[in-house]
Amino acid sequence: MREKPAQLVPLDVTNSSGGSREPLFGLDADSLSRLLVAAGEPAFRGKQMAEAMYRQWLSEIPEISTLPVTLREKFVAEGWKIGRPVIARAFQSVDGTERYLIEFEGSTPKGKSAEAVWMPEGDGGEAGDETDTEAKDWSRATVCISSQVGCAVNCQFCLTAKLGLQRNLTAGEIAGQVVAVLERQSVRVGRDRENLVFMGMGEPFLNYDNFMAAVRLLVREVGLSPRRMTVSTSGIVPGIERFALEPTNVRPKLAISLNAPNNTIRDEIMPINRKWPISEIIAAVRRVPLRPRERITFEYVLLGGVTDRPEHAREVARLVRRSGLPAKVNLIAWNPGPGIAYAMPSPEAVAAFHKLLIEEGIPVYIRQPRGRDIFAACGQLKRTLEA
Ligand code: SAH
Ligand code: SF4
Repeated sequence: MREKPAQLVPLDVTNSSGGSREPLFGLDADSLSRLLVAAGEPAFRGKQMAEAMYRQWLSEIPEISTLPVTLREKFVAEGWKIGRPVIARAFQSVDGTERYLIEFEGSTPKGKSAEAVWMPEGDGGEAGDETDTEAKDWSRATVCISSQVGCAVNCQFCLTAKLGLQRNLTAGEIAGQVVAVLERQSVRVGRDRENLVFMGMGEPFLNYDNFMAAVRLLVREVGLSPRRMTVSTSGIVPGIERFALEPTNVRPKLAISLNAPNNTIRDEIMPINRKWPISEIIAAVRRVPLRPRERITFEYVLLGGVTDRPEHAREVARLVRRSGLPAKVNLIAWNPGPGIAYAMPSPEAVAAFHKLLIEEGIPVYIRQPRGRDIFAACGQLKRTLEA
């Protein structure tokens, strides 16, 4: 299958428009080579530039010592910038989780920043996946990144929904969050076993091209394994259908935010369900070719009194069984947020729900809330400035 380049190559090397240029971060090695060739340089300079940005994590053109000084100066003079997203603020939780306010090249702090989260111990969401079959004592660090600023989907229990959709992030802005966090945490790619989840702000499948271009950058240029990446969607069927066509060696694992045992409750808490109900989502997911041992994750947010009853657990078990999919369920106790009128489930309700699914033979894990004290937990990302 032919794949698209990460981004169109800007050939306007003279910057004749006089405007500011797009950041270089986000262009893959081939695009960079074409850019350099258009500037009269040999193609291998593009590869060197990609190495500098994606492997060495250099963030300024003058630092790229593999390029001749004259070339670096020329690029700077012409207005080029690496333009990788920067961590503008960091909030630390008592549990070690860090939440970052990420600013993008040319963005103003208020309108255009997004959030990423670092969980040194993960949150248990990776348990039972294809990557989790070896030793038990490796690092489970997880990076959670955003795909949009805000979100248009309007799930009633989610704080990000309150922002509405402000804008899509570009491929470079999505991948750049990852590199910024990995650099801050001194992660050694290829040696440390970090996980990556597209579960921050936004709906990745409503920004599909940029999301997948970011995945390709992270796999091919940065060197991360797609088997340790998970994308979560609220159930955007056309997005799932496109995802099903991606080559399995360059796509993340898939998680579906099920969150309700039936369409009646799902319509109410996730209005998007009226457009793409559960049966259509499952039909689309079945078209995704899975890798050996790969499973689909169903995420299930437990809302006190609304989705956390024993009859709901039995209904979820039936639904998962009938789907015929190799699947597991990740339970997430709802994290509260200002202005959202749901209740947290009681610990007893969470335990009972978990136990019922086990009895029904469904692989099930409880995702631990991380960083609740700094508004870093699932569904709490809203660029909150209080720590
Ligand atoms: N937009 C995508 C990915 C981001 S949300 C999606 O919805 O799947 C990541 C997960 O957090 C989803 O499973 C979502 O259902 C869950 N979530 C949202 N708000 C939450 C909250 N307040 N408490 C717990 N989980 C929440
Ligand atoms: Fe958007 Fe996901 Fe929040 Fe729904 S749960 S509003 S899809 S970020």
